[in-house]
Amino acid sequence: MSDSVQRYVIIGNGIAGTTAAETLRRGDPNCRIVLITDEPYTLYNRVALPPFLKLQVPESKVFLKNREFHEKNRIELHLETRVTRVDTHERVVYTREGKTFPYDKLLVATGGRPNPLRVPGAEHAQHIYNFQYLDDAKHISERIAESRVGVVTGGSYIAYELAEAFRSRGLETYWLIRGPRFLRYILEEDGGKLVDLIAREHGVHMLYGTTIEEIYPKNGSCTVRTNTGQHIDADLVGVGLGLKMNYDFLADTPIKTNTGILTNEYLETDVPGVYAAGDIAEFFDPFANTAYTMGTWASATRHGKLAGTNMLGGRQPYHDVPYYTSGLFDSRLSAVGLTPDVLPGLEAIHTVDWEKRNYRRLFFRDGRLVGAMLIGDLKPKAAYTDVIRSRKQFAESERAALLTI
Ligand SMILES: Cc1cc2nc3c(=O)[nH]c(=O)nc-3n(C[C@H](O)[C@H](O)[C@H](O)COP(=O)(O)OP(=O)(O)OC[C@H]3O[C@@H](n4cnc5c(N)ncnc54)[C@H](O)[C@@H]3O)c2cc1C
Repeated sequence: MSDSVQRYVIIGNGIAGTTAAETLRRGDPNCRIVLITDEPYTLYNRVALPPFLKLQVPESKVFLKNREFHEKNRIELHLETRVTRVDTHERVVYTREGKTFPYDKLLVATGGRPNPLRVPGAEHAQHIYNFQYLDDAKHISERIAESRVGVVTGGSYIAYELAEAFRSRGLETYWLIRGPRFLRYILEEDGGKLVDLIAREHGVHMLYGTTIEEIYPKNGSCTVRTNTGQHIDADLVGVGLGLKMNYDFLADTPIKTNTGILTNEYLETDVPGVYAAGDIAEFFDPFANTAYTMGTWASATRHGKLAGTNMLGGRQPYHDVPYYTSGLFDSRLSAVGLTPDVLPGLEAIHTVDWEKRNYRRLFFRDGRLVGAMLIGDLKPKAAYTDVIRSRKQFAESERAALLTI
C-alpha cells in the first residue's frame, strides 16, 4: 500500500459511484481516483429516462456530468469497461478488456441488471425491452414511433413507467400484472383500486393475475399469449420484472452477499478496504436495526457521499429516511422510509379519499412509524419523515390520528 498517494477504485459510475468520486476528490486533492463503467456514457439521470421516453426532455438534459467534469476533478473514467474479477487479497480489479487496477480502497456501486422476459419465443422476438439504461430508452423510443400497440409486463415502478410512456405516446396499451394489484406488497386493496381507476381513466387496459406465457414472433412484431388464454398482437413489449444485483465478479472473494452486497452502517463490507453503495448495497440501517437494499435515487446519492467520506477515513453511519417519489399518470406517489416490499411483516393502517383521489398507508414496527405510502397529496411527506426520524412509539389507539396529519 502506498503511504502518500491513496489509490481509490470505484466500479460503477451511476449516481452512487460518481458522487463518491466527487467526495473523494474534495477530501483528498492528491489521491488517484479510477471510475469504471461498462456503459458508454458519463453520469446520466436514470430518473429522467421516463420523461425522455415521453419526449418531455431531450437527451442532452438527461446527462448530469460530462467528460470535462472528470478531467477537471482528475477522475480517471474508463467507459465500456466491464469488471470481471476482484482479488481482495492482492487488492486488484480485473476487467474483460484486459486492464488491471490496483487499489488501496475499493467501492462497488454497480446497481442491478433487469431480469429479461424468459418465456418460449422471447429469445427470437425483436422488440422486447427492459428499461434500465439510456440505450434501452433510446431503443424503446425509436420503436414506439413506429408502433400502434404495446404490452407491458410487471407490477412495480418500472412497469408503470413503461405503461405511462406507451400511453402518453398514443399506443394502445395492455398492462399485465401477475398479482392482484400494482405494488401488491405496499398497497392493499383500496390503494390497488385507486391506481386501477387512475390507469383506466388514462386508457390503459389493466389485466391482473396475468403473465406472458409465450411470444409468437410475427413480421417484426409479435403475438403475446397470456396465462389466461388471451392473445394480444403487439408491436413492442416492455418488461419490468425486477433486478438482479451486479456482483458476479466478486464470486472469488470472501465478500458476503445476499440480495445485495452486505455492509455495516458505514457501508463497509466485511473485507477491509472494500465498500458498497447505492442499489447494490444491502446495508445495515441502525434506525430500523436491520439490513436491506434500497433502490432509490436519493439513497444512492446519500450512499455515494457516505462511502466517499468513510473511504477517506471518516466514520459516518447511515442515518436517513429514504424515499421514492414518482408520477402516477396525472397523480403522484411517494414511498417514504421502510415499506413491506423491503421489510415484510410491518403492521399497517390506511385511509383513502375517493373524491380527492388521496391515499395514505402507514407502516409500523414495534409501535414506531417506519414508513408511509402516499398517493395524490404528497404534502404530508415531510411530516411523516419527521415522525419516522423521531422514533417515537405509538400505542395502537394513537396510530389512526397519524393518518390525518
Ligand atoms: C427508468 C427508471 C426510473 C427510475 N425512477 C426513479 C424515481 O422516480 N425515483 C427514484 O428514487 N429512483 C428511481 N429509479 C431508481 C434509481 O435510478 C436508482 O436507484 C439509482 O440510479 C441507483 O444508482 P446506483 O449508482 O446505485 O446504480 P446504477 O445507476 O445502476 O449504476 C451502476 C452502474 O454500474 C455499471 N456496472 C454494473 N456492473 C458493472 C461491471 N461489472 N463493470 C463495470 N460497470 C458495471 C452499470 O452498467 C451502471 O452504469 C429509477 C430507475 C430507472 C431505471
